[in-house]
Amino acid sequence: MSNPPANGMHAFSRDTTAIVDEVLEYARRRALYQDVPLDKPLRPRDLQRLAGNSITADGIGARRAAGLFENVLAPSCISTDHPGYLSFIPSAPSKASIAFDVVVSASSVYGGSWMEGAGAVFAENEVLTWLASEFGLPATAGGVFMQGGTIGNLSALVTARTRARRRRAEAGLPNPARWVVVCSAEAHSSIASAADVMDVDVVKAVAGADGRLRGDSVQAALDEHGDAVFAVVATGGTTNFGIVDDIASIAAVTQERDVWLHVDGAYGLAAMLVPSMREVFEGVQHADSLIVDPHKWLFAPFDACALLYRDPAGALAAHTQHAEYLDTLTETPDWNPSDLGIQLTRRARGLPLWFSLATHGTEVYRSAISYGIDLARRIADEIESRDGFSLVRDPQLSVVVFRREGWTLDDYNAWSDRLLEDQVAFVVPSSHAGEPVARFAIISPLTTFEMLTAILDTM
Ligand SMILES: *Cc1c(COP(=O)(O)O)cnc(C)c1O
Repeated sequence: MSNPPANGMHAFSRDTTAIVDEVLEYARRRALYQDVPLDKPLRPRDLQRLAGNSITADGIGARRAAGLFENVLAPSCISTDHPGYLSFIPSAPSKASIAFDVVVSASSVYGGSWMEGAGAVFAENEVLTWLASEFGLPATAGGVFMQGGTIGNLSALVTARTRARRRRAEAGLPNPARWVVVCSAEAHSSIASAADVMDVDVVKAVAGADGRLRGDSVQAALDEHGDAVFAVVATGGTTNFGIVDDIASIAAVTQERDVWLHVDGAYGLAAMLVPSMREVFEGVQHADSLIVDPHKWLFAPFDACALLYRDPAGALAAHTQHAEYLDTLTETPDWNPSDLGIQLTRRARGLPLWFSLATHGTEVYRSAISYGIDLARRIADEIESRDGFSLVRDPQLSVVVFRREGWTLDDYNAWSDRLLEDQVAFVVPSSHAGEPVARFAIISPLTTFEMLTAILDTM
């Protein structure tokens, strides 16, 4: 049994300096790795044997616990910042943003309210204001950094439904039997998940042969479902292909019908920071809400989603939590981030991006994103030129989907397993219209053309 803490010392005060040094030294080494190991998952029973039983009555000490993480647990996690990580959407946080994430943890900032976190919230809002102006939203736009795109999409759709309900009530109309959100079949799975949580229906408007949703198709869905539709979701870069919907024609319809337009740009909207790509996103400036994930293509660590509203007041009505113990916070005109989405206590998760942007400036971001787009085009040309390879679609952003003629799903899986086993790359197959395909998602500025051609050579 441990002794009770002595006067003036609390229960955790033993060895504080040594513990903090141990951890920060490892964090420093990991952040500065030159060649990040790719690594791969171990089976549960191997982890149990190598790292089980770490929770004991008296503790195993910082050295052993940190050693367990560095030598067993971390190598059993695939490094999403490895330049050969090309699956799903990779992560490539800048060193500045990684380092500052440690500061955010060390600073015990409560990011939910202005009263407690004013300085942090101010800095986050600087970033949100910059993003809003890049996307063409008015100066009155504002928002909040949420945990991820899934929660960002849900929060925006809840705000949209709150507005629709209020309008019905003001007009003396009953709510529809079922509320409806319209999106394309290519929309991210989180839209269906949000609809499920909200208990509303999803109507998938038909996208064109090129995968892009257009206004005429949204118009047809609105004709059919009338004012049961509380929001239309356009995707600014689908996850599987990087397809950007025809947002301008969709916005023309939502404006005419006065329906909420939400743009899900979790992955792709970052590309709008590249001047030559702006026209691809034409229409975003009409969005009532939008999201972009800094942990995807804005080089910030997990996890962060920037959620922006054209008019943040509507979000307050939907999300402000009321309780006696919160009155001090809610009965003020302060800018409280917790009132803009589904969360109360909040990590100031926009600060790593703020610090990195403030440090490097915005131009570095534009060129790092541009690099990924150019690399995707180069490797797409290379794929087209190889016998036995073909593109499924021309890349619009930084995702390249292609097939190896004659390969079955088993062939793709065996190839993918081998690349991970050999610690070359992490490239899981995807599928399109029932056909198994290979897919490169490029985010990291450290991913090179030579790496990608070497991977093609293994097929
Ligand atoms: C990744 C993604 C999401 C979900 O974001 P999370 O941060 O993973 O929750 C939503 N929409 C699109 C288009 C995405 O690519």
